[in-house]
Amino acid sequence: MRGIPFPKLIANFIATVERSGATILRADETSQRPLQLRILGPDNTTFCCIFLWTITPGGGGPAVRPANERRIQLTNVSQFPLRPGMRTIVGGWSDEFGVYAFWDPRRHRNFSSRSPSLQIRADVLEQATRDGIATFLRPSAEGREVVVAVDSPSLLWYIQNGEALHNTDTDTGAQLVHDLVSPAPESEQRIIESSGSENETIRRLELVETMRAFRESRFRPQVLQAYSYCCAVCGCALKLVDAAHIIPVSHPRSTDDIDNGIALCRLHHSAYDNGLLGIRSTHEIILNPSAISRLRDASLLNGLEEFRNALPRIIRVPASREAGPRPENLRTGLEARQWPKHLVV
Ligand SMILES: [Zn+2]
Repeated sequence: MRGIPFPKLIANFIATVERSGATILRADETSQRPLQLRILGPDNTTFCCIFLWTITPGGGGPAVRPANERRIQLTNVSQFPLRPGMRTIVGGWSDEFGVYAFWDPRRHRNFSSRSPSLQIRADVLEQATRDGIATFLRPSAEGREVVVAVDSPSLLWYIQNGEALHNTDTDTGAQLVHDLVSPAPESEQRIIESSGSENETIRRLELVETMRAFRESRFRPQVLQAYSYCCAVCGCALKLVDAAHIIPVSHPRSTDDIDNGIALCRLHHSAYDNGLLGIRSTHEIILNPSAISRLRDASLLNGLEEFRNALPRIIRVPASREAGPRPENLRTGLEARQWPKHLVV
């Protein structure tokens, strides 16, 4: 397997981060590692120094290396810079599995050989395609290292919040992260309490909180990806599209599951949330006569005809059925926004 050239790796990396809603400012137009970027994300701004390679099976074939070993070869680099205020990211893209994996630069201050490589297992990459995230513990020159694999929807989250996952050299790693991707009720507390030492309890608490944030962060990129980053009503992209909750967050039956999400541009998101525009369980788009009459009373009807004429009859839904809106959620979404009962279908 040939390595993908650095400029192409970076172009894909930037496109993935931009699709998740971040804005990227490039410090320079270099085609050499590392690339320095300022990433203005939904949560915060991160200044990153990025080293990226292709993850490959490595040379020599199965006779020399374990069949499930994958690796990045650290070419053309002698040291990873570590500076306060800057996040140094060392990772690779696996074309084979369609996921990224990241190592901990703090554990690789000195390279032991002239052509060093960093490893991960194929089954860990595969697990990240299913769960969105997976970790792997490997020995390194400076203690044991947690390697983190994430899928594209979680790349931005990893860059901005994922560093905490590397902060361990104990054996908690991979299995706990897996258990926390969709934990059974009460299992978070059990995981925190099942440890002996105080440090380990603190570490587990931090891990539980990190993984909670991970699960919450999945909603937006998963919904946007399912709708190809376009508004379900008008089809516009232009990074003007939000992941809207069908059943509003304030409602007791609201969830962050993909079938309670819909991609809507800012205009149609506002119109949906304030009850002017509705989407029936049949996917039909309707306007609310009581909302229109309230707008009339407030002398705010300007633009209604243009707005109405631009609407298609039905919404566009994702190709995959499971990623589409659940009919029951669409009905509850209308009820929660107090639509007249006879219009709720
Ligand atoms: Zn729209």
